[in-house]
Amino acid sequence: MSASPDKVIYMDNNATTRIAPEVVDAMMPYLTDYYGNPSSMHTFGGQVGLAIKQARREIADLLGAAPEEIVFTSCGTESDSTAILSALQTYPEKNHIVTTRVEHPAVKTLCDNLEIFTGRKYHITRLPVASDGTIDVRQFRDSLTDDTAIVSVMWANNETGVLFPVEEMADIAKERDILFHTDAVQAVGKMPINLKETNINFLSLSGHKLHAPKGIGVLYVRKGTPFIPFMNGGHQEFGRRGGTENVASIIGLGKACTLAAENMGAENTRVKMLRDRLEQGLLRSIPKSLLNGHPEERLPNTTNISFEYVEGEAILLHMNQYNICASSGSACTSGSLEPSHVLRAMGVPFTAAHGSIRFSLSVYNTEEEVDFVLATMPSIIAKLRELSPFWEDE
Ligand SMILES: *Cc1c(COP(=O)(O)O)cnc(C)c1O
Repeated sequence: MSASPDKVIYMDNNATTRIAPEVVDAMMPYLTDYYGNPSSMHTFGGQVGLAIKQARREIADLLGAAPEEIVFTSCGTESDSTAILSALQTYPEKNHIVTTRVEHPAVKTLCDNLEIFTGRKYHITRLPVASDGTIDVRQFRDSLTDDTAIVSVMWANNETGVLFPVEEMADIAKERDILFHTDAVQAVGKMPINLKETNINFLSLSGHKLHAPKGIGVLYVRKGTPFIPFMNGGHQEFGRRGGTENVASIIGLGKACTLAAENMGAENTRVKMLRDRLEQGLLRSIPKSLLNGHPEERLPNTTNISFEYVEGEAILLHMNQYNICASSGSACTSGSLEPSHVLRAMGVPFTAAHGSIRFSLSVYNTEEEVDFVLATMPSIIAKLRELSPFWEDE
C-alpha cells in the first residue's frame, strides 16, 4: 500500500518534518555543480567552505550563539552522545550524571548502556516528573553532588511537548561548576532561544525536526567549555569533529534556521491555534479522552491525548486508512505491551496510556486538515470501543 504525499495529512512533525522547498533549492547547487571539498586550497573548494561559514552563522543566529560555538554532527543522537561522553572524559574522577526519566532514547539509552560503552560504573540520577510532565527544580538542585560530571535534561519533550526550565536549571548547575547539556531537538525553531543569556554548555539540535534533511545535526558548545571530540580525524570543525562535511545538508540546515526564525511568529500563533482547535475539538467530541502534559508549559505544535480503553496502535491503523499520520505512546510493535516510558513516568493510568496519540503540527498544516481529523476521529474511537472488552458505554 502506498500513501501519495499530496493526500497525506501529516501530523507527525515531532517524528520528522517535510524538507522546506526553499531548503531544497538552497541545497541543490551543492549536490550538483559545487562539489568541491571545503578544505581544499583551490577556489573551487574554498567557495564551498564560504557557504558553510554562512550556514554556520545562520544557525548561530537562530540560537543566539556565536558561529564558533556551532559543531556539525550527523544527527541529534550524535550530538547528545558527544556532549555527554565529552563531559565524562573531561572529569574522569567524577561518576555521577543527572538526567530525567523522560529523555529521548538518544540520551536514555546512552545512559542505560554507559557501563558497556565506557567500561566504567556511573551513578545516574533520573529525576521523576509530576503527572503533568513537569519537573521539580528543587529536587533537581538537591540531586547535584561534587561527583556530578554532567546534567543532561531535554528542553522540550518529544512525546508531550512539555518544556523544562532548562535556563534556570543551567544557572543552578553553574553555581556548582557542573556542565549542563540540553537536548533541544524539539525546541529549536518552535520557540525563541538565546543561548548568550544562559549558562547552558551544550545544546543538541537535529535538522530533520525543523524542515532540513535527515542526517545533519548540530552540537552547540559554549565558548570556554572543555570539549573532547567523539569523532577524531581531520581538522574539520576546528578539530572538534573529524570527517568531510555533509555540505549540502549543512547549507540546507542554515536555510532552515533562517526560515524558522521567519516562521517563529506563525508557529506560535497560527500553528498553536490549529493545535488548540484540534485538541479542544477532540476532547469535546470524544468521551473519556484526556490531555497528557501541562496545558500551557509546552510546545505550540504538540498535543498528546489519551482515548481510554482503546489501543493506540489500533487507532493509528484506522487513522492510516484516512492517510492521517500521527504517533502513539504505546509500542506493541516491540512485542511488549508497555506504554511509553514518558507516560509511565507521568503515572498516566494503564487504561489511558495505551490509547495515547500524539499529534504534532507544523506550518504546513491547514485548518481544513484539522477539520477533517476532527470529523474522522470520533467514529474511529467509537468503533474501536465497541470491540473493547473494557469499554462500557455510559
Ligand atoms: C528526534 C530526536 C532526537 C534524535 O535526533 P536524530 O537526528 O533523529 O538522531 C533526539 N532527541 C529528541 C528530543 C528528538 O525528538
